[in-house]
Amino acid sequence: MKVVVIGAGLGGLALAQRLVGADVDVRVYERDSAIEARFQGYRIGLGGPGLTALAGALQPRLHPLLDAVSGLVESPGRAVDSQLTVLGEQDAVNDEGRMFDRNVLRHLLIAGLGERLRFDMKLDRYEELADGAVRAHFADGTTVDADVLVGADGMGSTVRRQLLPQIEIHDLPVYGAIGRTELAGFEHVIPGWSTVVSAKDVQLMLGRMKFQRSPVQAAAELAPDVTLPDTPSYIRWVLLLPGTPKTLDLDPVLDLIEDWHPDLRALIARADVNNSGVSPIKEGDPIEPWPTRAVTLLGDAGHPAPPGGLGANLAMVDAELLADKLIAVRDGRVEKIRALAGYEQAMCENAKTGRESAAQAFKNFAKLRAEA
Ligand SMILES: Cc1cc2nc3c(=O)[nH]c(=O)nc-3n(C[C@H](O)[C@H](O)[C@H](O)COP(=O)(O)OP(=O)(O)OC[C@H]3O[C@@H](n4cnc5c(N)ncnc54)[C@H](O)[C@@H]3O)c2cc1C
Repeated sequence: MKVVVIGAGLGGLALAQRLVGADVDVRVYERDSAIEARFQGYRIGLGGPGLTALAGALQPRLHPLLDAVSGLVESPGRAVDSQLTVLGEQDAVNDEGRMFDRNVLRHLLIAGLGERLRFDMKLDRYEELADGAVRAHFADGTTVDADVLVGADGMGSTVRRQLLPQIEIHDLPVYGAIGRTELAGFEHVIPGWSTVVSAKDVQLMLGRMKFQRSPVQAAAELAPDVTLPDTPSYIRWVLLLPGTPKTLDLDPVLDLIEDWHPDLRALIARADVNNSGVSPIKEGDPIEPWPTRAVTLLGDAGHPAPPGGLGANLAMVDAELLADKLIAVRDGRVEKIRALAGYEQAMCENAKTGRESAAQAFKNFAKLRAEA
């Protein structure tokens, strides 16, 4: 059985790792030209089943490295006003969870995939063949046939748009400026895993990505065959604003914090400009099981949700569920369409949890805004 995965994001790579580990023939096709082709380095919080599923996808020899490059969920989470006056503190609810840099995680998840992962391969469309197989058509004119095609191609998924054209993506009534700034010099602003700055028209969410060990040094010692990016500990920040962006330019947004505490302004001003920008925040229609075929969806492609929810956690769980089903098909224990239908049922159930979590996060911010 041959599996083709479209998209080398966290979900697609985790699936590929599991299938390689079980000796299933799998190929991953990614549209970007390289793993570092564009900004990929925001902080991801994983906990509970998502964290367990991530560890299960990685080769056990890489577990010490995974732990070394994670960040701890340390108390206190803090709420402050725009002058850095502390409004409240909260202990971490899940201090068993871990923080990861998405770029570092992707580097870990490509380890050992070798020629099975190909870049510069943008899927244009797929074609269902008479014998139940699927043909992937790429932008460069090449095609690849598979027994199962997995769309792990993110929120804007090309696979989902063909498979489920009725699912639409729409802007939420908030938008964000997102960036990151080196942690050094700003630890006092964010003593724990997160600080939220609440003001009347804008909320600033700061997330601390403090690597327990430098990724480069940890890889050199614990798994010298793995190359990790040279990323210093940083603060991922999101300025959340009501409405939809009139421009994707950062300057008008920064004018809104002109009278804020100088340390907060400095934090934003010192952001890595290449990794900062304004973007709408989007969400997809809810997803329900559909008539199963040899094409399926995983991660944000299947349940497009805004940032700040459980997207990466769910992608890890999807990868585990789907890998188990595909291995059972390969072993002849279950028929392909039946196996995929079972996966899609579970994936759609989990997607509901993701939507609820994202909705709750946005309700919390609306409440903070109202209180400010
Ligand atoms: C700022 C921010 C913070 C976040 N924080 C968290 C968090 O704390 N916890 C959490 O659980 N989630 C978080 N998320 C969400 C999480 O990042 C996503 O849910 C997760 O990365 C989805 O993984 P994925 O593999 O499904 O898709 P993606 O990571 O989007 O990967 C999709 C891949 O498919 C490729 N692709 C797209 N189209 C094609 C095509 N046509 N052909 C070939 N390749 C294609 C893309 O280039 C990309 O590499 C956050 C998101 C953001 C933006």
